[in-house]
Amino acid sequence: MAGYRVPRPDRPDIVRGARHQTLLARLAGFALLWALVGLMGLLADRAIPRQHLPWKRLTLLDPVGAATRVKAARAGADPAACRAILKAGGVDYREVPARTSGFCALNDSLQLTAGLAPLQPDGAPMTCKQALAVVIWERQVVQTAAFAELDQAVVGIDHYGSYSCRRIYGQSEGPVSEHALANALDIAGFRLADGTTISVLDDWNDPGPRGRFLHQVRDGACRVFLTTLSPDYNAQHANHLHLDMGGWPKCA
Ligand SMILES: [Zn+2]
Repeated sequence: MAGYRVPRPDRPDIVRGARHQTLLARLAGFALLWALVGLMGLLADRAIPRQHLPWKRLTLLDPVGAATRVKAARAGADPAACRAILKAGGVDYREVPARTSGFCALNDSLQLTAGLAPLQPDGAPMTCKQALAVVIWERQVVQTAAFAELDQAVVGIDHYGSYSCRRIYGQSEGPVSEHALANALDIAGFRLADGTTISVLDDWNDPGPRGRFLHQVRDGACRVFLTTLSPDYNAQHANHLHLDMGGWPKCA
């Protein structure tokens, strides 16, 4: 068999025709595939609630969905769009003049004045995207959990601060904290309509409704903020929930 050679086709025109047909079949296959993708996109656009669709407008009325965090972060990149969402949702705010000092900065920041259970102390400056996330979390997570577990509204939110010119954990070196950019808020506890309070420090491990409320509030925050850190994360967070809209997604 040493001298055997595969016979070459003696009709090059037939070979060329077969190649053409293969190319046409491939093009038709691609067209069909894209038509299917388009059809599925159209169906998704109609059938799936907008909180799950990143290309749809963000509103403060929507429940938290798969795309909420992405949409809030994106709105933060456009100061006018971010403020329009707050205004449309009945949220009032004061502008905070921009300033920079060293590695710290207040840019695109505001103070929420109405439209959510008041933050105490008031006047906490926050970037617009952080403020947006706080309002969404307060309306769609905190109040929902309060009614589900405690049968009443939250009427005040106690915090340990938003803007603070420091590095992470107040160390002299290392990464700059999101607090240094007013892009974070540390939640200490909640005031309820009946006058009682719930504290992260005292109630986190409560097996009853108070502890369940705090865990729901943390779990819901993980779907709104980029970073959510609770007493489950480490001892430095035993008395607060750290919520921020910077860095990489982290939920603990
Ligand atoms: Zn913090």
